[in-house]
Amino acid sequence: MLRYRFGSILLAAAALLCRAGDDAQQRLAGRAFSATPLLADLEELCDRIGGRPTGSPECERAIEWAAAKFKAAGVDTVALESFPVPQAWAAETAEAECLAPEKFPLRIAAAPFSASTGAALEAPLVDAGDGSPQAIAALGDRARGAIALVTSREMKTLDDLFDEYFRSGPMLAAARLAAQGAVRVRLRLVNRTGGPFESRNVVAEIRGRERPEEVVLLGAHLDSWELGTGAEDNGANAAMVIDAARAIHELQRKPRRTIRFVLFTGEEQGMWGSAGYVLRHASEMDRHVAAVVFDMGSGRTSGFFLNGREDLRQPLAQALAGLSGLDAAQNPPDAIDGTDNFDFLLSGVPNLVANQEAAPYLPDYHAESDTLDRVNARELKANAALASALVWWLAESPERFGRRLSRAEVEKLLADTKLDVQMRAFGQWDDWQSRRRGASR
Ligand SMILES: [Zn+2]
Repeated sequence: MLRYRFGSILLAAAALLCRAGDDAQQRLAGRAFSATPLLADLEELCDRIGGRPTGSPECERAIEWAAAKFKAAGVDTVALESFPVPQAWAAETAEAECLAPEKFPLRIAAAPFSASTGAALEAPLVDAGDGSPQAIAALGDRARGAIALVTSREMKTLDDLFDEYFRSGPMLAAARLAAQGAVRVRLRLVNRTGGPFESRNVVAEIRGRERPEEVVLLGAHLDSWELGTGAEDNGANAAMVIDAARAIHELQRKPRRTIRFVLFTGEEQGMWGSAGYVLRHASEMDRHVAAVVFDMGSGRTSGFFLNGREDLRQPLAQALAGLSGLDAAQNPPDAIDGTDNFDFLLSGVPNLVANQEAAPYLPDYHAESDTLDRVNARELKANAALASALVWWLAESPERFGRRLSRAEVEKLLADTKLDVQMRAFGQWDDWQSRRRGASR
C-alpha cells in the first residue's frame, strides 16, 4: 500500500462533514485536512530523533522536543512531570551466527527485558514451535543446553496482538531460521539492566474559561522501542496530539473546560507514564471528565473503545454527531489493557481508546520496519480532525461527558469485561489489589 503521500491531501473537508454541529468542531476538522505542520513534525521526531526507548538519550531529546513544540503551539502551560519506572533495560549488542551446516550471519534483536549471555554461547538450535510450555516439554532432553527457535505468526488483528502478549512470557529469543537437522548457532547478547529510574511526561494545557478545574485529556505515548523509528508506534499519534493543541489554540476561543495534551513515556515498559500521571494527579481524578488515547499508528479510526462503559455510548454518539463524514461512529464495548487509558480505567475516569484499523499497523509492530514511510498521511490527518474535534466537544459541552466510577464499580467492570483475567496474566492484578495502581475512591 502506498502511503505517506504529501501531495494528495487536498480533500474538500466541507464535503466530509455533513452536519453543522458545533462550529468550532467543523473548523477543527476542516483545518486538519489543510496544510498543517503535522507531517513535518512527525518527520523530525522519526528521522532526527529516531527510536526512543524510555531512559535513553533519544527519549530525553524527544521529551525536550515535544515540550518546545507545545510551547510554540501557544498553549497556556507546559510541564515536564517525572514518574518512576521500576526497571531499566536497554539493548546494546545482539549478534548471532549460524555455524553448521553452513556458516552465515543471522539478524537478530533482543526481546525486551531479556538477559545478557555474557560471552558468546555456542549451542545446537532446536525447533521449539510456538514456544509454549508444551512445545518446550515435547523437546525433552534435546532442549537441554540448546538455543530454542520460537516461531510467531504474523499478526493481523488486535486479537492476534493480545495472543502474542499472552505467549511472550516464556520466549527468550527468536531468529528467522527454519531449524532442520543439526544446526549450531553462536549467540551473543549484551543488554544493560538496572533498577528503578525516573522519566518524564510532557503535559501541556489550554485552560478552560468557565470550569478550568475540570479536565479533558488527550494522550498518546512518545516513547518507542529502539528498532525502527517509532513512526506508527506511536510517533504518528504523538505528533497528532501536538497538532491538536496547535489547532485548538488557533481557534482563538477558550473551551469551557481545561484540555490537557499529554505525551506519556514509559508506555512500552508497562504504561508507567500514565500510571505515574494518575498517581500524581490522584486528587484531581474526580475532575477528569474524560481521557482519550490514540495508540495504533495512522490506521483509520472507525470509532472508540468504550472500555466497558455502556453509559458513555450515547454521549459519545452525540459528541461525534457533527462529524458523521469521518465515519467514526462504531464504538465497541471492549475494555483495553495495553495502552495509556488503563490507569484511568482503573480510577473510574471515563476513558476512550481510538479503535484504529490494525492490519496496516501490526506487520511493523515493534519492528525495524516501523519507519516514516509506513505512515498513512491521509488517515493521520483524518485522525487529527477527529481527535481535535472530539476533545473540543468534550471540553465545551455544558453537560459532563460521564461520571467517575467508584472502586466497587470498577471491580465489577473488570469482572464483567474479563479484564481481571488479562490483568492476572500480565502481572498487574497485585498492583490493583494493593492499590499501587489506579487512584481509587
Ligand atoms: Zn504504542
